[in-house]
Amino acid sequence: MRKPLLPLETALAQLLASLEGHQLGTQWVATMQADGRVLAQDVSSQLQVPPQDNSSMDGYAIKVADLAASNGIFPVSQRIPAGTNPQALLPGTAARIFTGAPIPFGADAVIMQEDCAELPVSNPQDTLLRIQVNHTPSIGQWIRHSGEDVSKGELVLTAGQRLGPAELGMAASIGLAQLRVVCKPRVALFSTGDELVMPGDIDPQAMPAGAIYNSNRFFLNSLLQRLGCEVTDFGIIPDQREATVEALRLAADSNDLVLTSGGVSVGEEDHVKPAVQSLGQLDLWQIAIKPGKPFAHGRIGACHFIGLPGNPVSSFVTFLVLVRPFLQRMQGVHQAPLQSTAMRADFDWPRPDKRQEFLRVRRNAHGGLDLFPNQSSGVLSSVVWGEGLVDNPAGQSIRHGDQVPFVAFNDLYG
Ligand code: AMP
Ligand code: MG
Repeated sequence: MRKPLLPLETALAQLLASLEGHQLGTQWVATMQADGRVLAQDVSSQLQVPPQDNSSMDGYAIKVADLAASNGIFPVSQRIPAGTNPQALLPGTAARIFTGAPIPFGADAVIMQEDCAELPVSNPQDTLLRIQVNHTPSIGQWIRHSGEDVSKGELVLTAGQRLGPAELGMAASIGLAQLRVVCKPRVALFSTGDELVMPGDIDPQAMPAGAIYNSNRFFLNSLLQRLGCEVTDFGIIPDQREATVEALRLAADSNDLVLTSGGVSVGEEDHVKPAVQSLGQLDLWQIAIKPGKPFAHGRIGACHFIGLPGNPVSSFVTFLVLVRPFLQRMQGVHQAPLQSTAMRADFDWPRPDKRQEFLRVRRNAHGGLDLFPNQSSGVLSSVVWGEGLVDNPAGQSIRHGDQVPFVAFNDLYG
């Protein structure tokens, strides 16, 4: 009897459980070089941001209570450009102030310069410029308060956070030139199949019969890079037992994961499975998803092994739903389970599969989803045309107008 196919959820849980105890090292990197890396430790601020109360406008700082006795006229007693340390405000005066400059002690509002007028010098004995204030400010107006962004001691970034533009800006704003990050997972990438040709090796018009270009290698490399991996591309392994064993053994020595595509079905030209079994252990899973049934996980020594299906769309989809969460977990990234959005199907899917399906779709101008007409597992056009996947439960038919769970490719690429 054939073994029943494993539900995706079960396979994913087993895959993640296999990472128990697998720790990547950590390293310091310059904050400027840390884009896309995963933070290895919590980060708290050792100072207030902003460090002092400061002006958010070019204008004049005053004490609001001085306005009553002033007739709206203030002598300007000091000038405070950004980056200077002001004196306390002389009572009854205003301080010329610029955006980002510290508020002088005693002032409690800034009046923007558009709401003031410089008065002509009437008395030659006057040494100070005077301004007429044409506006009654409220206390605190145009003042950015110390610590309103970050207070001293506050936790600003947490271990397991992937660093992007916003996080790097934050790290810099609290003075960190270096960050402790998780080492990149080292991934050895293999393609298998004697039919494969690398683009550039043979011109399209000279392709021999039976040959196809190796497309998996390109999208898998791209997906791995986006997930922060250090990829070593081992090229194409020929469909031979000895060559496969040798290549895998070599790669497993110096990598955290060996990732192959193709050769994990059950045909006699599928050499990956016996090769891994001879070097370590292998769990071959037939997963109840479409596309993407054949999928293998195992170990070669301390190195993990994952075998993806050869069909390009199967390879693509199994990477997104299984390898991506695996690599995120390996790096200690906090992650929510696959997030989908309910969207309206503007298509019919009357004959669903018994397996959970991932249909390639794209959003249309009417707020619904269109289906790519050819959902075959070899048709990469469906992925290029599509913007994402409908995660369709096993046996679920879809009628025009139904709400279906949509996951965007863009949300799965990092
Ligand atoms: P396999 O799992 O090795 O039986 O491969 C299944 C199908 O995927 C076959 O049609 C292969 O030619 C195709 N295939 C396998 N590897 C690749 C690859 N790297 N790029 C494009 N197609 C591939
Ligand atoms: Mg093959």
